Amino acid sequence: MPTVDRLIVRIIRVPFLVPRWAIAQVLLPNTIFVREDIEPTVTLIAHELVHVHQLKRYGLMRYWLRYLTLLISSGYEDHPMEVEARVGESDPVYRRLARRVLEEQHA
Ligand SMILES: [Zn+2]
Repeated sequence: MPTVDRLIVRIIRVPFLVPRWAIAQVLLPNTIFVREDIEPTVTLIAHELVHVHQLKRYGLMRYWLRYLTLLISSGYEDHPMEVEARVGESDPVYRRLARRVLEEQHA
């Protein structure tokens, strides 16, 4: 269960990501990069918040090492960290937190 109350997450808009088809990424702790041409939705941010928690769980270097290793062995669709993030998209706790993060963007 995510520690909602103590989690401060910011959204940074960027012109592009690598790979080019990526619309959002968690590259640094508590930071979600979202492409400028994409309007971030609750579902998208809830997904990315799972990655924020994964990064917190593993630490920055192990998060990336694990992500890339599993990407090679499992591909994107079956990637265990992506599967977990897709489940989180409909998790009420992540969705509530996503709404809060989005509200803070517009505050
Ligand atoms: Zn993802």
